[in-house]
Amino acid sequence: MKIGSMKKIVSLQRNFFKTHNTKDLHFRRKQLKTLYSALKKNEPLLHEAIYKDFKKSEFDNYTTELSLLYKDIKEARINIFQWARKQKVSTGILNFPASSYIIPEPLGVCLVIGAWNYPYQLSFAPVIAAIAAGNTVILKPSELPTRTAAAMTKIVKENFDPAFFTVVEGGVEETQELLKQKFDKIFFTGSTKVGKIVYKAAAENLTPVTLELGGKSPAIITESCDLKVSVKRLVWGKFLNSGQTCIAPDYVLVHKSIEQKFLEQAKKEIISQHFAFENDNYLQIINNSNFERLTKMLIPEKIYYGGETNAETRYIQPTIMQNVTMDDAVMQEEIFGPILPVLTYETIDEAIAKVNSLPKPLSCYLFTKSSSIKKKILKEISFGGGAINETVMHISNSNLPFGGVGHSGIGNYHGEAGFKTFTHYKSVMDKPTWLDPSIRYYPHTPFRFKLMYWFMKF
Ligand code: NAD
Repeated sequence: MKIGSMKKIVSLQRNFFKTHNTKDLHFRRKQLKTLYSALKKNEPLLHEAIYKDFKKSEFDNYTTELSLLYKDIKEARINIFQWARKQKVSTGILNFPASSYIIPEPLGVCLVIGAWNYPYQLSFAPVIAAIAAGNTVILKPSELPTRTAAAMTKIVKENFDPAFFTVVEGGVEETQELLKQKFDKIFFTGSTKVGKIVYKAAAENLTPVTLELGGKSPAIITESCDLKVSVKRLVWGKFLNSGQTCIAPDYVLVHKSIEQKFLEQAKKEIISQHFAFENDNYLQIINNSNFERLTKMLIPEKIYYGGETNAETRYIQPTIMQNVTMDDAVMQEEIFGPILPVLTYETIDEAIAKVNSLPKPLSCYLFTKSSSIKKKILKEISFGGGAINETVMHISNSNLPFGGVGHSGIGNYHGEAGFKTFTHYKSVMDKPTWLDPSIRYYPHTPFRFKLMYWFMKF
């Protein structure tokens, strides 16, 4: 899309929003159904595009992208009447005989900026929430997986009126041009660095933002865990999408006493889950610059397992690094690739201190059978969301608001939390006129003050 036409599309959507059509719940349900059918109908195209972009298999595309979108749409269509209902709240004697209520209302024209690593899910999931909440949407998917971006554009173009929902493709320049426009909400998924750029641009227009960012998510393996199951789940969560998952365990803190057992088990799991060699279930690194960034993190003498790379196919073998310290390159930034640094600790306080020396992570995973350690970690580490004796799967429960804290993000979504993210809750006090005691009006008298004092004694 030409840069000049961004202003036009925003104004087209603003005019459409002013018709109030999107406030009708049946309209919203119908649009969600259209999206559902369009995605279903275009599954072959969606599979092909993502495979060509970074070798994501049909299995992974269905289980980690499309099925989540279908679930989101179904849940929104079922719950929309409940989520959008006017809520009555109590008023209190001070305002008798009034009633008070909260009306959920859409924010208006929303911009959704997607990341590349789960291109369909991270683009359409916020869109579903925005539509359910009654907004119009401009989606700017990541430009890195070019074919998936094109597939999304095609599907949206064929099924939606651009005055209601459209896709704008492009990279940095186009996104920055979009950010100059006035939106009523910006929902951004991506890096902390770009999150700051978005936040600054949004501040110009006092536009509310949700920032779904990244960070270094720890996994803590305690002596008391079930090592076999724990490592199986950890390895799966780490190497899924070739480690290119915002909530992947970024690094592991293992109790010193079980370090060797952990390393052996992790190697076994990588092999048995078929992550160990180039195959159709193992994704490519998204582009050359990420491939280079990742390979620079590898320190040959610290590689316990893996370390093979192939620049031509952008392949990095699942790699375990041992004897890693907080000063190593791999601990200086979010890895976002198939490298698992293993650090050790001797006391749980030491593990907590290591995690807390870094910015608050998006996720945290704890493997333990000890309820006191569970309690301690949940109390002493702040993180966006996480799981105990599991990795990644908390994202699949839409009753759990999904988002970061501090450097890993602002706000959250999924399920009703997504609806709330794109909604303004308008508070109203509704008063009849048949009773209008003069007590609060001027001029004030000692008697009125006494009465007011009594009414307002809290
Ligand atoms: P990114 O920040 O590079 O890009 C995200 C989006 O911002 C893209 O659409 C891109 O076009 C745009 N963009 C890039 N540079 C820009 C600039 N200078 N000005 C304006 N817009 C710009 O992120 P990415 O590489 O696509 O994704 C990886 C990051 O996203 C990781 O940090 C990961 O943890 C995070 N992430 C977070 C979540 C989450 O749900 N919290 C999900 C996926 C990825």
